[in-house]
Amino acid sequence: MPRKFFVGGNWKCNGTQASIKELCNSLNKGDSVESSPVEVVCAPPAIYAQYAREHLRKDFQIGLQNCWIGKGGAYTGEIAADMIKDMNFHWVILGHSERRHIPELHESDDTIAKKVEYAQSVGLKVIACIGETLEEREAGRTQEVNERQLAAIAGKVKDWNGIVIAYEPVWAIGTGKVATPEQAQEVHSFLRTWLRNNVSAQVAENTRIIYGGSVNGKNCAELAKQSDIDGFLVGGASLKPEFLDIVGSFR
Ligand code: PGA
Repeated sequence: MPRKFFVGGNWKCNGTQASIKELCNSLNKGDSVESSPVEVVCAPPAIYAQYAREHLRKDFQIGLQNCWIGKGGAYTGEIAADMIKDMNFHWVILGHSERRHIPELHESDDTIAKKVEYAQSVGLKVIACIGETLEEREAGRTQEVNERQLAAIAGKVKDWNGIVIAYEPVWAIGTGKVATPEQAQEVHSFLRTWLRNNVSAQVAENTRIIYGGSVNGKNCAELAKQSDIDGFLVGGASLKPEFLDIVGSFR
């Protein structure tokens, strides 16, 4: 079975009721993807998740951007995976580079792996992000860093059908400096080979590996042509009508 193209919209910490309504209205104008070979998940800030679901077309799913490491309890300010599931949201983004690298957040490989494990244990599907910094790339450590981050996550995955791997080079996120199709394909192919050698041939074949980092309506088509790029995780452009062009790039 071919891997179903996957497009995630990471709205990050952006939006108001008014701007989200306006964004939903513009996204609602696109062709239905109901019977298309593409799956779309938009991730608003948690407080707007329900609001976005009420306004957004039903063929686009709503996901969350993060969750607590385990079960709920005395963790002021946190949202447990169980609550996301209870509210009937099915997806969560984990390990985003902003959660790894913003000093106030600074999530480790181990924390992210535990979050993936717990989220899966309650039945959530996960968009798990990995990616090297510019410094790491320039030091020739791209493969090593991505392998380390993927291995930490892979060690905790129980259901490979419920996970999408997002390769997002940190130097490409929000910078306008998109990886070239060749650069992205090289890492995606490396990750798929890693899955083949360390998990199974079937998991390598079936797992969607999506690219993120300055994807827009113009550069998506060339990236989408690469054999190991199975979709995108989109930040800035997911807040604009051009998100629909990215959704359509599977064609
Ligand atoms: P960007 O963000 O598309 O704005 O570069 C991607 C992401 O952070 O997932």
